[in-house]
Amino acid sequence: MSKFAEPMSRLIDELKKLPGIGSKSAQRLAFHILRSSEDDAEALASAVRDLKAKLRLCSVCNNITDINPCVYCSSPTRNQKLVCVVEEPTNIAAIEKTRNYHGVYHVLHGSFSPLHGVGPEQLRIGNLLSRVAAGEIEEVILATNPTVEGEATASYLADHLKRQGLRVTRIAMGIPVGSDIEYTDEVTMLKAMEGRRDM
Ligand SMILES: [Zn+2]
Repeated sequence: MSKFAEPMSRLIDELKKLPGIGSKSAQRLAFHILRSSEDDAEALASAVRDLKAKLRLCSVCNNITDINPCVYCSSPTRNQKLVCVVEEPTNIAAIEKTRNYHGVYHVLHGSFSPLHGVGPEQLRIGNLLSRVAAGEIEEVILATNPTVEGEATASYLADHLKRQGLRVTRIAMGIPVGSDIEYTDEVTMLKAMEGRRDM
């Protein structure tokens, strides 16, 4: 038998499903919600409901959005011929932070992972290929993560996209700004040397 009343253990069980939340944190959050005002608890519940009810994937780029096409795909000030491919919707925020990118995006929702059975069919690649086939794109920037999975995904896409005759680029990898090359591991150093540019 659970040591908590049924509604409490039900909430704890649901909270435990969230990433990074163990039993202790789930209990703490559940008691916090129990002690909070009726209004705060209702606001939390309705925010969760609205998230599922109102957000969907952009039919063009697979970004999470409340309007379709999303703000980037429907923007007249964005270069619709320049597409940056990322693994997750959250990666868009990291690129937007630079305020220096004025193209649009394509979200794959993952990267290749043979161990977990994730191949090209499991990723959202189809609508990128149809955008390319429609001649709407001039350059694709591959901004998948610098991991084994991200690199494998990038080379697969580069192979497919280059055959369509468009420019395919990969973001540079290397030494973090403000760090010291003395403490750089050999793989990062190798990537930095490969990604060197003329000055
Ligand atoms: Zn979009």
